[in-house]
Formats: sequence, structure tokens, C-alpha cells
Amino acid sequence: KLNYLHHGMVWVMTNSAWQTRKEAVIARGMGNIFPIYTDRALNAEVWDVEGKRYIDFAAGIAVVNTGHCHPEVIGAVKKQLDDFSHSCVMVTPYASAVELAEKLLEIVPIRDAKAMFVSTGAEAVENAVKIARVATGRPGVVAFSGGFHGRTNLCMGLTGKVVPYKKGFGPFTPEIYHVPFPAEYLGVGSADSLAALDQLFKSDIEPDCVAAIVVEPIQGEGGFYPAPDGFLAELRAVCDQYGILLIVDEIQTGFGRTGRMFASESEGIEPDIITLAKGIAGGFPIAAVVGKAAVMDAPDPGGLGGTYAGSPLGCAAGLAVLEVIDKESLCERSAEVGRRLMDALHRLQARYPDRVGDVRGRGAMVAMELVRGGDVHQPDAELTKELSVRAAEMGLILISCGVRGNVIRILAPLTIPFEHLDEGIAILEKAFAESVGA
Ligand code: PMP
Repeated sequence: KLNYLHHGMVWVMTNSAWQTRKEAVIARGMGNIFPIYTDRALNAEVWDVEGKRYIDFAAGIAVVNTGHCHPEVIGAVKKQLDDFSHSCVMVTPYASAVELAEKLLEIVPIRDAKAMFVSTGAEAVENAVKIARVATGRPGVVAFSGGFHGRTNLCMGLTGKVVPYKKGFGPFTPEIYHVPFPAEYLGVGSADSLAALDQLFKSDIEPDCVAAIVVEPIQGEGGFYPAPDGFLAELRAVCDQYGILLIVDEIQTGFGRTGRMFASESEGIEPDIITLAKGIAGGFPIAAVVGKAAVMDAPDPGGLGGTYAGSPLGCAAGLAVLEVIDKESLCERSAEVGRRLMDALHRLQARYPDRVGDVRGRGAMVAMELVRGGDVHQPDAELTKELSVRAAEMGLILISCGVRGNVIRILAPLTIPFEHLDEGIAILEKAFAESVGA
């Protein structure tokens, strides 16, 4: 195997040599989709250690919504680094954490709210449930099949996809219940989900013992299934009827991804709590829980937090990201990027109606579901994998999702220049044609 490649003036380690070294020292469970080792990245372009360039349709899984290395985000972090990198927000806090909380409260679809910070999405979900349990004095939590909420024990329990997230990792915490998510393409409607919830309240847990219902407005890892119009409002009504808190997990959908700052806005509902991570700080590890002040204030001081909770670098980056989203009108841009992507996917569907079973998206959170014979019941995970491998060979980072592994999802940076968007779409079309042997 070739371990070194002559690139420019120097010999560099190849991707495959790094992959061999990686597999020798990093646990198998931490898989990587592509054996592509990142060297640098700018906006929607990534270069690997061999000097090969890629258009990025993944954005680090909906994280760099403001593009890789946005100068204002990087500038804010560099400035913070010159001042201090850590003091622990629970020892001697700092202004940027207060300011980021203030800014978040201005933009979330929750009135009279308060925030708290952690480092990862899973921690945000875990803390949302902790808070809901204290606030209601109830143990139960209802989540949805196909949902994804993270890899801590509680979040694995909430997650509704066994392989690879739950298999072998149990036991999970008690008092977690699942109902089917209304994925219309799969033939499950809002009425089915609500009937299942009703049944759950009769057969498994009385609603008075349920602290919260946790839901993604558009399932991310599960396959980019949007909650049908009106479903979140129906959940809101059920929650109100029984005194249950509605936790909306906006970790993948937040920060302009769906053409609005948060996907909940499109539903016209007010969640009790939302969880935020990923796009919040353009790649710096910070996450937040934002909810009704009375709910958020339920746990006693010291019950929430963590050594790195709301790190100064994350807060500085988060403040810069919010400014960039506003200044560059990235919600509007998200809608435009999404329109262009949806057009492209619809063209593919028209050309290959047997293979592209469905095209769906909101804003720049766009997906197509690959099947055989145009049949929803014949998911084509092989074609999905092949397409993403070929796309990478041709210079496009294209990732998949879905409980059945047959959904191609596109999460390009919202700042992607249209010429790079078109370039990525052209690669996608070519890779698709080659993958189906057309
Ligand atoms: N919730 C949702 C909706 C997510 O998409 C993710 C990450 N894919 C998480 C929670 C977990 O976030 P993290 O990986 O930062 O723990």
C-alpha cells in the first residue's frame, strides 16, 4: 500500500495510511464514514491530507451552518483565546455566557425563558429530561421510534433506532416509552401516532406519571422525516391536557437549517423546552437547553452544569454565529439553498423514478429516499452507500441517514457559494448515474 504521496513540495501521509494507523489505535465503535483525513476547510470546501478538494454537503453534520472557518467566528474565538480559555462557568463565570443566554432568549420560540449550557447535544437532551423530571415530579418520558437524541445512557434509551446506537449497550434507564413517529412516506400519519400515544397512556403509563414528550420537529438521523403539519400542535395539546412538558430537540434543525431560526417556528407552537447544539457555535463544542423560566429554575443550584459547560470558546463562537446568521440573512439563504437542492433532487427523481422514492426537505435540510422499483417497502441501502462512496471519489462529501440506511441527506453550509452548490449538484447527478449504471 502506498503510504506517502508527493504533494506540492513535500511527501505527505496518504488517507489510507492514516486510516490504517487509526484502526490500530482508535476503537472500532468510533467508525468513520469516509477514509478521508481533513487537512483544512473553508466555507463549503474541504481539502484532505493528499491535497484533494471536496465540496461539503455535510457541514460536519449540520454544524458549520455558517461555513467552515467563518472569519468572524474564528476571529471571536482567537480573541477569547488571548484572554482566557477556561475558568469554569460555575467557579468564576464570564460575560459571554450571560450574553449568549440573553441572545438565545431573544430568538427562541419560547416566552419568559431561561437557558443553561453544556458541551454536547446528548448532554442537552439529558439535562432537558432532568429538568422536566424535577419540574413535574414525574418519572416518565415518551419519545419516538426512529428518533435520535445522543449516545449517553439516557439518550440511547430515548433513541428509537437499535443498530448501531443501542445494540448491546443496555440496560437503559427505566420509564422511557416509545410511540411511532408520523413518517408519512412510510405510511404512518399523525392520527396513527396520536392513537399510539393514547394507547400507551392506557396500557403502559398513566399520563399523570409522564414528565415529558421528546420530539424532533424533523427526524434527523432517523431519515429526515418531517413531523406532518399540525402534529406538533397536537402534541402540544396533549401535553397541555395532562401537564406534560413538550421538549423539542432542535439540535439538528436549529440555527437557520430549515429556513427559519428554529423548525418549531414553522409549526407555530411554543415548546416548554428546546435543546440546541451543532449549529449553535459553528464547530466549537457548546450546547444549550432553553425553556420556560419556571421549568428551568426547578433544579437546585449545583444540580446542573459541568466542568466545561458553556466554555468561553463556545460562548464566543456562539455569539459570533448569531451575528453572522443575522448579518448574512442566513435563514433566507437557507431557504434559497434548499430550493435549488430540492429542484436538483426532483430532477433526479424524474429521471430515476424507480430509484428515488421520495424527495423531501425544509430549507437547507434536504433528503432523497432510495428504493428499488419505486417501492417504499424496498429500501436500497446498497445504492445509498455506493452513491456516497462514488460522490466522495468525485469530490463531494455526501452522507446518508435513515433507520433503513437508504436516505441521502444534504446539509450544506448555509453560506455555500452558489457556484459550489451547482458544482456539488453536478457531481451528485454524475455519481448517481454511475451508481445505477445509467
Ligand atoms: N439530537 C439530535 C436531533 C441530533 O441530531 C444529535 C446528533 N446527531 C444529538 C441529539 C446528539 O448530539 P451530540 O452528538 O452532540 O451529542
